[in-house]
Amino acid sequence: MNPNFLQTPVVYLKGVGPNRAEILKTELGIETYGDLLQLYPNRYLDKTQYYKINQLKDSGADVQILGKIIHLKTVEQKRGKRLVATFIDDTGQLELVWFRGQKWIRENLKLNEPYVIFGRINRYGSTFSMPHPEMELLQQHQAGLKVSMQPIYPSTEKLSNSGITNRVVSKLIQQLFMETKANFDETLSENLIADLKLVSKADALLNIHFPKSQELLAKAQFRLKFEELFFVQLQLLNKKVIRKHKIKGLPFDQVGEKFNAFFQNHLPFELTRAQKRVMKEIRNDLGSSAQMNRLLQGDVGSGKTIVALMCMLLAIDNGFQACLMAPTEILANQHYTSLKELLKDMDVSIELLTGSVKKSARKPIHEQLENGTLHILVGTHAVLEDKVQFKNLGLAVIDEQHRFGVAQRSKLWHKNNLPPHILVMTATPIPRTLAMSLYGDLDISVIDELPPGRKPIKTVHRYDANRLKVFRFIKDEIKKGRQVYIVYPLIQESEALDYKDLMDGYESIAREFPLPDYQISIVHGQMKPQDKDYEMERFVRGETQIMVATTVIEVGVNVPNASVMIIESAERFGLSQLHQLRGRVGRGAEQSFCILMTGYKLSNDSKTRLETMVRTNDGFEIAEVDLKLRGPGDLMGTQQSGLLNLKIADIVKDNQILKSARYYAIQLLKVDPKMEKSEHLSIRKAYANLVKDKAIWGYIS
Ligand code: ADP
Ligand code: MG
Repeated sequence: MNPNFLQTPVVYLKGVGPNRAEILKTELGIETYGDLLQLYPNRYLDKTQYYKINQLKDSGADVQILGKIIHLKTVEQKRGKRLVATFIDDTGQLELVWFRGQKWIRENLKLNEPYVIFGRINRYGSTFSMPHPEMELLQQHQAGLKVSMQPIYPSTEKLSNSGITNRVVSKLIQQLFMETKANFDETLSENLIADLKLVSKADALLNIHFPKSQELLAKAQFRLKFEELFFVQLQLLNKKVIRKHKIKGLPFDQVGEKFNAFFQNHLPFELTRAQKRVMKEIRNDLGSSAQMNRLLQGDVGSGKTIVALMCMLLAIDNGFQACLMAPTEILANQHYTSLKELLKDMDVSIELLTGSVKKSARKPIHEQLENGTLHILVGTHAVLEDKVQFKNLGLAVIDEQHRFGVAQRSKLWHKNNLPPHILVMTATPIPRTLAMSLYGDLDISVIDELPPGRKPIKTVHRYDANRLKVFRFIKDEIKKGRQVYIVYPLIQESEALDYKDLMDGYESIAREFPLPDYQISIVHGQMKPQDKDYEMERFVRGETQIMVATTVIEVGVNVPNASVMIIESAERFGLSQLHQLRGRVGRGAEQSFCILMTGYKLSNDSKTRLETMVRTNDGFEIAEVDLKLRGPGDLMGTQQSGLLNLKIADIVKDNQILKSARYYAIQLLKVDPKMEKSEHLSIRKAYANLVKDKAIWGYIS
């Protein structure tokens, strides 16, 4: 086939004029024959199955039923009238309803003759109805051509309003197959096809649009999903190769005096095995001649800060500066304080730069950054401002990466002539499968071990009705000298309501835990920053025993003496949020507890979330469940959703295929890195076509 054929503008296809072409483009992003070919059906109406009326369950299902009409009547309604038929089989009855074309139907329908009907059912209480069914007399049905699986294509209101119905789309695709004689180029190698027992590309395309059976459809889907993921992986792997070879990194070839001094004399504890392993991985990167782009994952409390510090010392030993960026002022402050403490006996200069640092205090910071006397800068987004110039930035550490956008990361890159090494730290565990697809070109290190001596947090789920017992428990813990968080949800859409919940809750707690025996702090989003800080400080110093708060405490606060976390309306939090909140306790030597409070009414998803929290403390396991419940887009925040732009594969559901695609992509690049061998020609051609019109890969790193 002429390779340019698929690039043909769709306007040239018979049945598509300029108008339709425009709508296809704006509504579905379809511009070429190739785009149209890749408009895969969302689902298929399976006309190989017959339902019995007593098998019908819910509204919305498309079903095919064999039966007969026993009664026909016209019902007057407010505007116009409707035609209603009583349709029965040997298990029950349902109503067929028409609002349009009633006269024709009334004259042509036959009573008491076997019909095959097909359509979407509605349920009202225990009765079912089917508006505007497709109908065929059984006799005709048996004589006719069998379309067993009818494809249903993605659509929008605008599409169907402009007459581009499912039937029309289907026709257009048929037309496309006619013009091409379904002669599509193979895109995978013979070896792969044989190894994985794949159907050919042409067969796959034919059967994804016009499946003859469930089995052929499944084969087509598998082939197309594999192919899609395979090429994604090829691109990611290649990108990584390019970065390693083409983007020169700053050489950190010495392990020098500061690193060694810290390691030998100032390390306050022994590193865990996981921390040691990760340090080794990072040192390998920094010592090679390539720029590092590494994602460091570790659950809350796993000890990422010390790893970041040691990397920064490596930078300083090699004559470079380092910076650490955090998403909030509180977090930046806390990093600054703990790093300063760790460095107190060392000759390393460190400063803090956030929005609230005064102008007069900024000036010397800028100067020292520019003349190189400042070693480490800790800060918020303020670090990214153009005014902030380094003499020679060698390493940028970014904490909690999911809150930083791509543009911001690229700003960092340009703070130095050669891009600095980048270490991204996140406490949101990203399941490996997802990390592989989203960050396949980043290197990933995982701290999968908590420092010794921590007792796992005990988590329970309690109903609101048992609140008194929970209060008694809180009193017992406070008697032992512990502190308690009580957290309320805060969701933007209903901020006012949430505020009321919080205040009602606060009042009842204040009644239950009266002064002077108990002191309570309260922190919420409507307070002034100074007031928040004041309340927070009181809790940190142990002057108050209870902290009532909205989720503002999610990141930041570190109070080792706090051992109880109560989460109110826990069903309203997402899993990763619950896990982050729970991570606020369990930081000291004492046994810690997390109590999830809810009412009795819970959705299935809520139940799953609560059960998962009670069952495990493992952030990765929780992330897997979260991913299954919410899908990858939500997990990563809207910023990342849809980025992969997959047409058919689903990185959660098709996890196994993803693994195999990655495996085969790695194998291919191992034996033939440039895809030059003749047996890889088809892959190379398809790959070249893909990267040619896809700039989206620029988003990573
Ligand atoms: P996170 O990964 O959540 O950023 P931190 O770096 O804040 O975790 O570490 C959490 C706590 O654990 C800190 O108080 C830190 O000093 C302590 N810590 C880190 N590593 C170790 C270790 N190897 N042994 C004992 N305590 C450690
Ligand atoms: Mg941290």
